[in-house]
Amino acid sequence: PETISIQELANRMAERAVDVIRLLMKQGQMVKITDVIDADTAQLLAEELGHTVRRVAESDVEEGLFDVPDAPENLVPRPPVVTIMGHVDHGKTSLLDALRSANVVSGEAGGITQHIGAYQVTSPLGGKITFIDTPGHAAFTAMRARGAKVTDIVVLVVAADDGVMPQTIEAINHARAAKVPLIVAINKIDKPDAKPERVRSELLQYEVQVESMGGDTLEVEVSAKAHTNLDKLLELITLQSELLDLKADPERDAEGTVIEAKLDRGRGPVATVLVQRGTLRVGDIVVAGAEMGRVRALISDKGTQLASAEPSMPVEVLGFNGTPEAGDRLAVVENEARAREITDYRKNQKREKAAARSATVRGSLEQMMS
Ligand code: GDP
Ligand code: MG
Repeated sequence: PETISIQELANRMAERAVDVIRLLMKQGQMVKITDVIDADTAQLLAEELGHTVRRVAESDVEEGLFDVPDAPENLVPRPPVVTIMGHVDHGKTSLLDALRSANVVSGEAGGITQHIGAYQVTSPLGGKITFIDTPGHAAFTAMRARGAKVTDIVVLVVAADDGVMPQTIEAINHARAAKVPLIVAINKIDKPDAKPERVRSELLQYEVQVESMGGDTLEVEVSAKAHTNLDKLLELITLQSELLDLKADPERDAEGTVIEAKLDRGRGPVATVLVQRGTLRVGDIVVAGAEMGRVRALISDKGTQLASAEPSMPVEVLGFNGTPEAGDRLAVVENEARAREITDYRKNQKREKAAARSATVRGSLEQMMS
């Protein structure tokens, strides 16, 4: 059932919380400021205090915001979005860096040293590939929990000198739960103690059967350090993505997911957004989580200013009024009033959840003390 804390109810009516408490006491209810009451009681209280109540259901506010269907006639192929996962120290970061630097055209400075949450490379088979650098499994899980499906393909990195380890298994389970195909990259094959065969048979125990073991999981032996077989890996990704037949409608308003976000001293809130549907344009009014804004600038992974960003493109979005959170889904809305309605509602939801949480903590503390 819908609930609201006394504090939040008072805030929304611009009344003092003590007056709300007093009114409830008159009705024989003993409450504290942190207690939550149900929406019907809250409505009666508010009306008694002379306020007009408009109950807004989530379904109303969020209606039609996400998962707006594409127009089938507008569908065109889009690049695959790839996440690299695997056990710590097996070479995820090295591989991401190697793929990026191998693909940087000379003169395209782009700041290869600067950290960026996502970037695109060109496949040797043509077409682009988007890589996202999710800072670990926790972020991946958080994004999934918020209903954000960002990855089309997981590249599972397994170090040939170390074999299948706990986070390798975790990554396999993540990919399986998200119904995302795996490509196995057996890394560090430059090392004298590399045992790629052992990796293949260990993977069998987790029902990952690579091609050379008679299965249909694509595999490649690589060295992030020696830049061995990086093109082969990119080719496999393109092949896998062709099997997936990834398409999007670039004509419509954009939907996307915030990969990471920060408050930049000079530029204000900066969100790295993966555009997943439609085209995001400078001037669009957007919402992401509890934040809204008008897109002031779009900056590519190469550091160039763009007028628009198409499906599967990662872009830095400038113009948010506040800093959204990684995993927040982004949507374009028709005007600022609509954006404000959505973000006001979400801000309230956030506050209420926090209040309910601290009330619960307080309650259990009081129980422990008595
Ligand atoms: P992550 O924790 O999975 O991101 O792993 P890193 O990319 O940080 O790599 C962990 C260590 O393995 C670093 O010292 C890398 O230099 C090293 N490393 C990564 N890839 C290779 C490789 O292909 N060959 C060798 N010999 N070392 C590698
Ligand atoms: Mg790393």
